[in-house]
Amino acid sequence: MKNERNNGRREFLKATGKAGLVAGLAATVLPSWAGDLAASADSYAGVAEEIPYTQQPLLYKYDALEPVIDAMTMDIHYNKHAAAYTKNLGDATTAEGVNTGSTSLVALLGKISKYSAKMRNNGGGHYNHEFFWKSMKAPVEGNAPQSSIQKAMIKDFGSVEAFKTQFTDAGKNRFGSGWAWLVMTADKKLVTVSTPNQDNPLMDISELKGTPLLGLDVWEHAYYLKYQNRRPDYINAWWKLVNWEVVQQRFAKALL
Ligand code: MN
Repeated sequence: MKNERNNGRREFLKATGKAGLVAGLAATVLPSWAGDLAASADSYAGVAEEIPYTQQPLLYKYDALEPVIDAMTMDIHYNKHAAAYTKNLGDATTAEGVNTGSTSLVALLGKISKYSAKMRNNGGGHYNHEFFWKSMKAPVEGNAPQSSIQKAMIKDFGSVEAFKTQFTDAGKNRFGSGWAWLVMTADKKLVTVSTPNQDNPLMDISELKGTPLLGLDVWEHAYYLKYQNRRPDYINAWWKLVNWEVVQQRFAKALL
Protein backbone atom coordinates (compact mmCIF):
# COMPACT_ATOMS: atom_id res chain seq x y z
CA MET A 1 0.00 0.00 0.00
CA LYS A 2 2.72 2.39 1.05
CA ASN A 3 4.74 1.84 -2.13
CA GLU A 4 1.69 2.16 -4.27
CA ARG A 5 0.91 5.48 -2.64
CA ASN A 6 4.48 6.70 -3.11
CA ASN A 7 4.48 5.62 -6.74
CA GLY A 8 1.21 7.36 -7.21
CA ARG A 9 2.63 10.52 -5.65
CA ARG A 10 5.66 10.41 -7.96
CA GLU A 11 3.42 10.04 -10.99
CA PHE A 12 1.31 12.90 -9.73
CA LEU A 13 4.41 15.06 -9.28
CA LYS A 14 5.61 14.26 -12.79
CA ALA A 15 2.23 15.09 -14.20
CA THR A 16 1.60 18.34 -12.38
CA GLY A 17 4.99 19.70 -11.38
CA LYS A 18 5.77 20.93 -7.87
CA ALA A 19 3.83 24.16 -8.14
CA GLY A 20 0.78 22.26 -9.27
CA LEU A 21 1.09 19.90 -6.33
CA VAL A 22 1.29 22.74 -3.83
CA ALA A 23 -1.63 24.54 -5.40
CA GLY A 24 -3.61 21.30 -5.54
CA LEU A 25 -2.95 20.57 -1.87
CA ALA A 26 -3.82 24.09 -0.84
CA ALA A 27 -7.11 23.84 -2.69
CA THR A 28 -8.13 20.38 -1.55
CA VAL A 29 -6.49 19.59 1.80
CA LEU A 30 -6.10 22.85 3.68
CA PRO A 31 -9.08 25.00 4.61
CA SER A 32 -8.87 28.46 3.07
CA TRP A 33 -8.10 30.16 6.38
CA ALA A 34 -5.25 27.82 7.39
CA GLY A 35 -2.51 30.19 6.26
CA ASP A 36 -3.93 33.15 8.17
CA LEU A 37 -4.51 31.04 11.24
CA ALA A 38 -0.90 29.82 11.34
CA ALA A 39 0.43 33.33 10.81
CA SER A 40 -1.64 34.94 13.53
CA ALA A 41 -1.14 32.18 16.08
CA ASP A 42 2.63 32.00 15.47
CA SER A 43 3.17 35.76 15.66
CA TYR A 44 2.96 35.88 19.43
CA ALA A 45 4.02 32.36 20.44
CA GLY A 46 6.71 32.63 23.08
CA VAL A 47 6.54 36.44 22.91
CA ALA A 48 3.23 37.47 24.51
CA GLU A 49 2.50 36.51 28.09
CA GLU A 50 0.68 33.18 28.35
CA ILE A 51 -2.27 33.06 30.75
CA PRO A 52 -3.76 29.77 32.06
CA TYR A 53 -7.46 29.13 31.34
CA THR A 54 -8.26 29.05 35.07
CA GLN A 55 -8.47 32.04 37.41
CA GLN A 56 -5.22 32.38 39.37
CA PRO A 57 -5.01 33.52 43.00
CA LEU A 58 -4.39 37.24 43.43
CA LEU A 59 -0.80 37.99 44.43
CA TYR A 60 -1.97 40.58 47.00
CA LYS A 61 -4.89 41.21 49.35
CA TYR A 62 -8.02 43.07 48.25
CA ASP A 63 -6.97 46.12 50.27
CA ALA A 64 -3.35 46.13 49.02
CA LEU A 65 -4.08 48.71 46.32
CA GLU A 66 -5.78 51.18 48.71
CA PRO A 67 -6.29 54.08 48.54
CA VAL A 68 -6.08 54.03 44.73
CA ILE A 69 -8.41 51.03 44.29
CA ASP A 70 -10.60 50.21 47.29
CA ALA A 71 -10.92 46.70 48.73
CA MET A 72 -14.61 46.32 47.89
CA THR A 73 -14.00 47.15 44.24
CA MET A 74 -11.17 44.60 44.10
CA ASP A 75 -13.28 41.93 45.82
CA ILE A 76 -16.27 42.36 43.47
CA HIS A 77 -14.08 42.84 40.42
CA TYR A 78 -12.07 39.65 41.04
CA ASN A 79 -14.75 37.38 42.50
CA LYS A 80 -17.75 38.43 40.43
CA HIS A 81 -16.80 40.12 37.15
CA ALA A 82 -13.51 38.37 36.38
CA ALA A 83 -14.65 34.99 37.75
CA ALA A 84 -17.67 35.12 35.41
CA TYR A 85 -15.45 35.68 32.35
CA THR A 86 -13.35 32.67 33.36
CA LYS A 87 -16.41 30.45 33.86
CA ASN A 88 -18.01 31.55 30.58
CA LEU A 89 -14.74 31.00 28.71
CA GLY A 90 -14.69 27.43 30.06
CA ASP A 91 -18.25 26.89 28.83
CA ALA A 92 -17.39 28.31 25.40
CA THR A 93 -14.24 26.22 24.91
CA THR A 94 -16.22 23.07 25.81
CA ALA A 95 -19.15 23.97 23.53
CA GLU A 96 -16.90 24.90 20.60
CA GLY A 97 -14.47 22.01 20.93
CA VAL A 98 -11.29 23.90 21.86
CA ASN A 99 -8.65 21.60 23.38
CA THR A 100 -7.31 23.86 26.11
CA GLY A 101 -4.50 21.39 26.76
CA SER A 102 -3.00 21.90 23.31
CA THR A 103 -4.24 25.40 22.35
CA SER A 104 -2.80 28.24 24.41
CA LEU A 105 -5.01 31.21 25.22
CA VAL A 106 -2.66 33.48 23.24
CA ALA A 107 -3.07 31.19 20.20
CA LEU A 108 -6.86 31.10 20.66
CA LEU A 109 -7.07 34.91 20.81
CA GLY A 110 -4.91 35.08 17.67
CA LYS A 111 -7.67 33.32 15.71
CA ILE A 112 -10.66 34.59 17.69
CA SER A 113 -12.57 35.58 14.51
CA LYS A 114 -13.19 31.84 13.92
CA TYR A 115 -15.18 31.54 17.15
CA SER A 116 -18.37 32.90 18.73
CA ALA A 117 -18.95 36.31 20.30
CA LYS A 118 -19.12 34.47 23.65
CA MET A 119 -15.56 33.15 23.11
CA ARG A 120 -14.34 36.62 22.09
CA ASN A 121 -15.93 38.44 25.04
CA ASN A 122 -14.96 35.91 27.69
CA GLY A 123 -11.60 34.83 26.26
CA GLY A 124 -10.62 38.49 26.17
CA GLY A 125 -12.27 39.16 29.54
CA HIS A 126 -10.38 36.34 31.22
CA TYR A 127 -7.02 37.15 29.60
CA ASN A 128 -7.29 40.89 30.21
CA HIS A 129 -8.15 40.61 33.90
CA GLU A 130 -5.45 38.04 34.72
CA PHE A 131 -2.96 40.26 32.87
CA PHE A 132 -4.27 43.35 34.72
CA TRP A 133 -3.96 41.87 38.25
CA LYS A 134 -0.33 40.97 37.55
CA SER A 135 0.40 44.50 36.32
CA MET A 136 -0.26 46.08 39.73
CA LYS A 137 1.31 46.26 43.18
CA ALA A 138 0.83 48.37 46.33
CA PRO A 139 0.97 52.11 45.56
CA VAL A 140 4.35 53.84 45.29
CA GLU A 141 4.78 57.62 45.18
CA GLY A 142 6.91 58.66 42.21
CA ASN A 143 6.45 55.24 40.62
CA ALA A 144 8.16 55.22 37.21
CA PRO A 145 9.55 52.84 34.59
CA GLN A 146 13.28 52.13 34.73
CA SER A 147 15.82 50.28 32.66
CA SER A 148 15.48 49.56 28.93
CA ILE A 149 11.72 50.19 28.68
CA GLN A 150 12.27 53.74 29.91
CA LYS A 151 14.81 54.28 27.10
CA ALA A 152 12.41 52.79 24.55
CA MET A 153 9.63 55.13 25.74
CA ILE A 154 11.88 58.15 25.29
CA LYS A 155 12.75 56.92 21.77
CA ASP A 156 9.17 56.11 20.69
CA PHE A 157 7.12 58.76 22.58
CA GLY A 158 9.67 61.51 23.27
CA SER A 159 9.45 61.08 27.06
CA VAL A 160 7.88 58.93 29.77
CA GLU A 161 5.46 61.79 30.46
CA ALA A 162 4.42 61.86 26.80
CA PHE A 163 3.75 58.11 26.94
CA LYS A 164 1.63 58.53 30.08
CA THR A 165 -0.38 61.32 28.45
CA GLN A 166 -1.05 59.19 25.35
CA PHE A 167 -2.04 56.14 27.41
CA THR A 168 -4.23 58.25 29.73
CA ASP A 169 -5.97 59.79 26.70
CA ALA A 170 -6.54 56.33 25.20
CA GLY A 171 -8.33 55.32 28.41
CA LYS A 172 -10.15 58.62 28.95
CA ASN A 173 -11.43 58.80 25.38
CA ARG A 174 -12.62 55.19 25.10
CA PHE A 175 -16.38 55.65 24.67
CA GLY A 176 -18.24 53.18 26.87
CA SER A 177 -16.37 50.13 28.16
CA GLY A 178 -12.92 48.97 27.20
CA TRP A 179 -9.19 49.00 27.86
CA ALA A 180 -6.12 51.17 27.33
CA TRP A 181 -2.93 49.38 26.27
CA LEU A 182 0.80 49.79 25.88
CA VAL A 183 1.71 47.48 23.01
CA MET A 184 4.85 46.42 21.18
CA THR A 185 4.14 46.10 17.47
CA ALA A 186 5.70 43.54 15.12
CA ASP A 187 8.38 46.10 14.12
CA LYS A 188 9.32 46.47 17.82
CA LYS A 189 7.81 49.89 18.35
CA LEU A 190 5.95 50.95 21.48
CA VAL A 191 2.47 52.34 20.84
CA THR A 192 -0.65 53.05 22.88
CA VAL A 193 -4.12 52.01 21.81
CA SER A 194 -7.55 51.43 23.27
CA THR A 195 -9.85 48.47 22.55
CA PRO A 196 -13.64 48.25 23.07
CA ASN A 197 -15.37 45.79 25.43
CA GLN A 198 -13.01 42.89 26.25
CA ASP A 199 -11.04 42.93 23.00
CA ASN A 200 -7.25 43.10 23.12
CA PRO A 201 -4.34 43.58 20.70
CA LEU A 202 -3.64 39.82 20.52
CA MET A 203 -6.93 39.28 18.69
CA ASP A 204 -6.89 38.90 14.92
CA ILE A 205 -9.90 41.23 14.77
CA SER A 206 -8.03 44.02 16.59
CA GLU A 207 -7.35 47.14 14.52
CA LEU A 208 -3.87 47.38 16.02
CA LYS A 209 -2.13 44.07 16.69
CA GLY A 210 0.88 43.50 18.90
CA THR A 211 2.20 42.21 22.20
CA PRO A 212 0.46 43.78 25.23
CA LEU A 213 2.88 45.09 27.86
CA LEU A 214 0.44 46.98 30.09
CA GLY A 215 -3.36 47.19 30.12
CA LEU A 216 -5.81 49.32 32.09
CA ASP A 217 -9.43 48.36 32.66
CA VAL A 218 -11.61 51.45 32.10
CA TRP A 219 -14.97 49.69 32.50
CA GLU A 220 -17.08 51.50 35.11
CA HIS A 221 -17.03 48.37 37.32
CA ALA A 222 -13.28 48.94 37.75
CA TYR A 223 -13.63 52.33 39.44
CA TYR A 224 -17.26 53.43 39.96
CA LEU A 225 -17.60 52.78 43.73
CA LYS A 226 -14.78 55.20 44.52
CA TYR A 227 -14.56 57.52 41.51
CA GLN A 228 -18.14 57.44 40.11
CA ASN A 229 -18.03 59.36 36.79
CA ARG A 230 -14.45 60.63 37.29
CA ARG A 231 -12.57 58.18 35.05
CA PRO A 232 -9.61 60.59 34.54
CA ASP A 233 -9.06 60.76 38.33
CA TYR A 234 -8.97 56.94 38.46
CA ILE A 235 -6.42 56.77 35.63
CA ASN A 236 -4.21 59.51 37.10
CA ALA A 237 -4.14 57.78 40.50
CA TRP A 238 -3.60 54.33 38.93
CA TRP A 239 -0.03 55.19 37.78
CA LYS A 240 1.07 54.67 41.41
CA LEU A 241 0.07 50.98 41.13
CA VAL A 242 1.87 49.95 37.96
CA ASN A 243 4.30 47.10 38.56
CA TRP A 244 7.02 48.32 36.22
CA GLU A 245 9.24 45.31 36.99
CA VAL A 246 6.59 43.05 35.45
CA VAL A 247 6.13 45.40 32.48
CA GLN A 248 9.92 45.46 31.96
CA GLN A 249 9.97 41.63 31.86
CA ARG A 250 7.19 41.58 29.25
CA PHE A 251 9.07 44.22 27.26
CA ALA A 252 12.32 42.20 27.30
CA LYS A 253 10.47 39.05 26.19
CA ALA A 254 8.63 40.89 23.41
CA LEU A 255 11.96 42.09 22.00
CA LEU A 256 13.10 38.50 21.34
MN1 MN B 1 -13.00 44.53 34.66
